[in-house]
Amino acid sequence: MRRTVFNEDHEAFRETIRDFIAAEVVPEYEEWREAGQVPRDFYKKLGELGIFGIEVPEEYGGAGETSFKFNAVITEELARAGVSFGGSSVHTALCLPYILKYGNEEQKRRWLPSFVSGDLMTAIAMTEPGTGSDLAGMKTTAKLSEDGTHYVLNGAKTFITGGVLADRVLVCARTAPATPEDRRGGISILVVDTTSEGYAVGRKLEKLGLKTSDTAELSFTDVKVPVEDLLGEEGKAFGYLAHNLPQERLGIAVSAYAQSAAAVEFAKAYVQDREVFGKSVASFQNTKFTLADCKAEVDAMQAVVDRALEAHDAGELTAADAASAKLFTTEHAAVVIDKCLQLHGGYGYMMEYPIARLYADTRVTRIYGGTSEVMRSIVAKSMGL
Ligand SMILES: Cc1cc2nc3c(=O)[nH]c(=O)nc-3n(C[C@H](O)[C@H](O)[C@H](O)COP(=O)(O)OP(=O)(O)OC[C@H]3O[C@@H](n4cnc5c(N)ncnc54)[C@H](O)[C@@H]3O)c2cc1C
Repeated sequence: MRRTVFNEDHEAFRETIRDFIAAEVVPEYEEWREAGQVPRDFYKKLGELGIFGIEVPEEYGGAGETSFKFNAVITEELARAGVSFGGSSVHTALCLPYILKYGNEEQKRRWLPSFVSGDLMTAIAMTEPGTGSDLAGMKTTAKLSEDGTHYVLNGAKTFITGGVLADRVLVCARTAPATPEDRRGGISILVVDTTSEGYAVGRKLEKLGLKTSDTAELSFTDVKVPVEDLLGEEGKAFGYLAHNLPQERLGIAVSAYAQSAAAVEFAKAYVQDREVFGKSVASFQNTKFTLADCKAEVDAMQAVVDRALEAHDAGELTAADAASAKLFTTEHAAVVIDKCLQLHGGYGYMMEYPIARLYADTRVTRIYGGTSEVMRSIVAKSMGL
């Protein structure tokens, strides 16, 4: 089916990204996987390419685009090549919308130019060892000092993507205790300088997949955060999270779709090349039927993702729409990628084959950004259930 979601500008951008990935990422990727992260300098290259500034207004050094579709193009091209840009998707797809929407003029002038160049990398820390799905249950606290000049931050976060390399982390913390009437009130976002005294990066976590993304534990012991680094209004962050999570979930849906489409291409190429019992694996009816099933599933995912991208650009993507898109694509991606791996036989289990990496990488899409169970709860609630 002809796709109508992307225009000429998106396609020209796709070419640029494809060439950049082939020249700058593919040759280095094995080394990055072994290191468990991309080199910090690579983010400067992404900055020079303009990747971090796409949606940043021109007055702060960006390109001033408002469409999320450029982000989708990057995700698709990374999946197609079987690689990633480390943890940097969090920088642009997750953190930037908070700074753009809730940052004041002074903060934008202070942070955005170096955000765009890759000199200042960001991460976002919501999840804690004791609470993930139930964000209102977070225990990290930020107490305003008596003279009102700074907050004192204490607590711990875990599973923070980009947490090792980040220069500023958007830390969600309680500035007031929860009340029985309002569990969600009293949470604020502080944009914490990672060189602050008392700020510590704990373990870089060993993961099943996403090997080039640095996922870390963070801890805060009496970290002084200037009041100038509070994002938006004190106590209102739960509303901010609810507003921004649909874009995060759309990004994950795009990624699940793109990984599935890539898996079908990897499998198709493999089965045409591989011979068993004197003929190609592609010649078996089972192979053709399996890949036809996968193609049909990928077409359905693409339709969902494209509609969601249009809705998001039009400002109409609801929390339930985004949850539904994430749920559908990530659950189906698991089935498609598993079938494509099966067609590779034992080679599909070897990490040197991109299908094995996709299999491992895609598993987390049903967990992060809100689990499938949480997505089902949101969709069911929107149905009045
Ligand atoms: C690789 C990776 C990167 C991540 N990056 C970040 C990041 O950058 N920043 C960040 O803040 N967080 C990040 N996370 C955290 C992620 O968002 C959480 O892991 C996720 O929200 C689930 O929380 P949890 O792990 O505490 O699981 P839990 O909330 O403990 O859930 C355990 C199980 O209970 C189920 N469950 C929970 N609530 C319900 C319910 N109401 N009904 C039915 N079942 C339920 C869940 O679906 C799950 O199956 C990352 C996680 C991973 C794995």
